[in-house]
Amino acid sequence: MSEKEIVNKWLKIIQQILGLGLSFPCHCVLCLQSSQRDFALCHDCEKTLPWLTQACPRCGLSFVESDICWRCHQNPFAFDSLQALFHYQWPVSAFVGDLKYKGHLHFVKMLASLMVSRLKAVHPIDCVVGMPLHPQRQRQRGFNQTIELAKMVSKLCQLPLDRWSCTKILDLPAQASLPKSARTKNLSAKAFSIAPAFAAKHVLIIEDVVTTGQTVQAFTQALKIHGVTTVEIWSVCRTHL
Ligand SMILES: [Zn+2]
Ligand SMILES: [Zn+2]
Repeated sequence: MSEKEIVNKWLKIIQQILGLGLSFPCHCVLCLQSSQRDFALCHDCEKTLPWLTQACPRCGLSFVESDICWRCHQNPFAFDSLQALFHYQWPVSAFVGDLKYKGHLHFVKMLASLMVSRLKAVHPIDCVVGMPLHPQRQRQRGFNQTIELAKMVSKLCQLPLDRWSCTKILDLPAQASLPKSARTKNLSAKAFSIAPAFAAKHVLIIEDVVTTGQTVQAFTQALKIHGVTTVEIWSVCRTHL
């Protein structure tokens, strides 16, 4: 284990211990007033966030049409529904970045609570999973933020969580870091491994940011090849980038 991995591991343990003390009342991360609830965002600041209010129910992209968008009419994704809370804009982009890259795990409670209060499942769900991260990346980061979000969503919704059956086995560059022409060829269902014992038929995937949709598409294909019937995705943010 490298020095950075050891530091990340200890940082996570310390933050979890500190997190136990961050119970109600919290202070809002935006206005610093008491949030009046058990996560760090007050009701007034919640209203000012960049909510994604009108989006295609299939792919989650912002649009003004009344049915699914023209992209989903022409070439639908393999997943059955994607809902996102926010446009990828400040301050939510900073919340997600601080969670993912700085290990600020208190954002898990906030973002998962907002997901559960705002999003409604459109399909039956018998299992919640996070978007798998390659084990090497997870070791470097010390945690997988989508699994942390999935754990909290599962707890708040009282739905079963499966954090071990789905694995990313190919470590490829993030889609957003590639030129547009290279993105869609980058990932396939083969990038993911699903344990033989995984028996869920209706899966809810929790993601932090959906950009091109190709990563959730590839994971969905792997799940459906395995025998999953419906795949629904809840993401914190959705962006066109
Ligand atoms: Zn506030
Ligand atoms: Zn669409």
